[in-house]
Order: sequence, then structure tokens, then C-alpha cells
Amino acid sequence: MVHEGLFGYCQYSLNINQCLSFLVPGSREEESGMLCPYCNENDDRVVNSRTSVNGSAVKRRRECLNCGRRYTTYERIEDTAIRIVKKDGSRENFSRSKLLEGLNRACHKRPVSADVLEETAEEVEQQLTRHYENEVPSNVVGEMVMERLKELDHVAFIRFASVYREFKDIRDFLEQADIILGEKGEK
Ligand SMILES: [Zn+2]
Repeated sequence: MVHEGLFGYCQYSLNINQCLSFLVPGSREEESGMLCPYCNENDDRVVNSRTSVNGSAVKRRRECLNCGRRYTTYERIEDTAIRIVKKDGSRENFSRSKLLEGLNRACHKRPVSADVLEETAEEVEQQLTRHYENEVPSNVVGEMVMERLKELDHVAFIRFASVYREFKDIRDFLEQADIILGEKGEK
């Protein structure tokens, strides 16, 4: 829904109200009124805001005025239009949160911070939107994720790969582990 407005046209295809609330400082609902994840109170202040490395998200550090604990929120453009084509030919919309869930599962109890996982999901999404217009095969996404996990944490990589590549038996798995350990040894 491209519209003319105070700012020319809206490059994000938002309706006029969304566009204005996005662009006019101080009119954002996100500035206040997040529910505290610890005490559920709706009373916080923004301690600081910063734009993520590649500029696609605003990260806000918030402090609950009720219980005093701090937490982080991210503000970003919703709905990347990319659709994922699965092996069976079915399609589904790309979902950053789903990707993040997968990353979290792979990195469970591993020394990888939540921030790094957020950034990783963001990078993958950016890379997808830069190189693909509408649809992208699911294996491309999987490989992108694995490439990054390989750099981040080898255990997480193996976990992700074992789910993603559906290792049929222990031999498949060991083969994969050998390749990774071999690559690590070369460096
Ligand atoms: Zn609280």
C-alpha cells in the first residue's frame, strides 16, 4: 500500500498511520508500555536504544519501574515477504522467530549469547532478502544457518545439522563430525 505522505512515499508498504508512528519520533507505542517479563507490570523506562549492526532493528534496554529488573526489546520491520519452499514442495512464510527457535535449540546450554543468536537470525534474514525476491528453497536457509553455527559453536552446529540433514544412522553422523573436526584441525 504505497502512499504519499509527509515523507514522500512509504518504502515499507505500511499504511499511513503505521508509517507515521514509525517515522515521527515520540509517537511510537514501543517507547513505553512493554509488559515486564518478570513481574508483568506495564511500567518501564528505556535505558538506552541502539540500532543493530546492519541497521534493520532497534534494540532497547528497558528497566521495569516496578521491580527494577532490566530486559531487552527489539523493534523491526515485520513480515519479510520471502517464502520458504520445503522439500515436499509446500511453501510457508519465512519466520524469524521460528529460525531463532531453531538456533536456541541448537545452542541450548552452549556458550553462545542471546544477542549473538538474534544477530545471526537477523543476518540470515538480511541475506535472504538481499539475494531472493520471493521464494527460497529450505535447504538454502539451512546451509546459511549451518555456515554461521560452524563459526559459533561446533556442538550447536552438529545438533542443528543432525536435525536438518536428518542423519539416517550413526555412520552419517560420524562422517559429518569427521568433516567438521577435520576442518577445525586444519585451521
Ligand atoms: Zn518488573
